[in-house]
Amino acid sequence: MELMTNANTDTMTQKDSGPPTDSATLTGISKTFVAKGRTVHAVKDVDLSIRSGEYVVILGPSGCGKSTLLRCVAGLETPTEGSISLQGRPVYDAQQRINVKPNARQVGMVFQNYALWPHMTVEKNVAYPLRMRKQPKNTWDKRVTDVLEALECEALAKRLPAELSGGQQQRIALARALVYEPAILLLDEPLSNLDALLRVSLRIELMRLHRALGYTALHITHDQEEALEMGDRVVLMRAGSIEQMGPPEQVYARPVSPYAAHFLGVRNQTSVEVIDGVLRSKTGVISGSAALARGRVNNQKLELFVRGRDTDVFRLDDDQKAYAQGDSIVMEGNLAQVVLGEGGRRQYIVDLGGTQWFAQHAHDQDLRPGDPVAVTVPVKSVLLYHNEKLIFPASG
Ligand code: ADP
Ligand code: MG
Repeated sequence: MELMTNANTDTMTQKDSGPPTDSATLTGISKTFVAKGRTVHAVKDVDLSIRSGEYVVILGPSGCGKSTLLRCVAGLETPTEGSISLQGRPVYDAQQRINVKPNARQVGMVFQNYALWPHMTVEKNVAYPLRMRKQPKNTWDKRVTDVLEALECEALAKRLPAELSGGQQQRIALARALVYEPAILLLDEPLSNLDALLRVSLRIELMRLHRALGYTALHITHDQEEALEMGDRVVLMRAGSIEQMGPPEQVYARPVSPYAAHFLGVRNQTSVEVIDGVLRSKTGVISGSAALARGRVNNQKLELFVRGRDTDVFRLDDDQKAYAQGDSIVMEGNLAQVVLGEGGRRQYIVDLGGTQWFAQHAHDQDLRPGDPVAVTVPVKSVLLYHNEKLIFPASG
């Protein structure tokens, strides 16, 4: 049902207005702060186009410029360089000196801390943007009722924010941002203040709502799971620049750099070296690595990454050596710890000569800390980087 609604909306937009337009286009956006004699390049030359109806999630660690970029789109921050248009209309252009005020930009904003007016009831809070935009008063009630219904919050209309839970407050903040049908909805870490369970249920709720109403969204988060689950497209930021962007499956499968791999939750990493046609780690030759080393220069230093769920641990009995079977690589180490990880799954932490590896599978259930073990990984699960660039798997 919901998917059909979305499909209909798409065809309608195309029929009514010719080829689908971009909802937001950012070109060469930079923002430099000078504070107390210190210069911070918060955003550096960002190009980003968001299609109408698309849900784009910007992912990156704290301080990488996510909020600054979002605030530039909202008009709350003035970029140092570049231009921004919303639905084809320029709202900022450094060269042409265009700078449309925030409340004339048709953007809706949702913040981490809800930011509801504490003295206003829910319906007054939601009607507030209509009042500010001087929309005809006789249309307010219907818009407010419609949006509260869409969010399944009609019953809360007469309450004050203090009488709502965190999740309910965030729903009302969302209703208030959607009430005047903005060109783009901007969400700055909207789920970060909620506890883990509520966060997951509100994620699903936000996705349902997006499918049902078909608005355009730019959502920022530091949570890779949230980004991969919610985004039609994920934009990974690094120190003010875009490191990688693409559909979540693509970004997840092929992180472009060690930074991207690390931030997308690929936890296992070790430095290796090409020695005489095989890879060598700190603990010795990696069995089964000839295919990975093929064609590479001797003594080349590489970074090898693997996801924990693709890693298997075997016990090595006295003096037994680990040999690769089939298309896999094998490294030797010692079991350091067994801990309970996400979803109550066991995680096996292996010490590979000072590097800790996480594995989600163990061939032998009764492994003890200190046991000599072999760590095996299918070659197809390996990511190899040279000079910051992904060299395996090869592109295409
Ligand atoms: P994020 O949202 O990814 O955590 P921000 O966009 O808030 O990152 O900040 C990016 C960088 O810009 C940080 O180094 C931050 O300290 C700096 N910054 C943000 N706002 C200001 C400001 N008003 N004045 C000076 N520096 C700022
Ligand atoms: Mg921020």
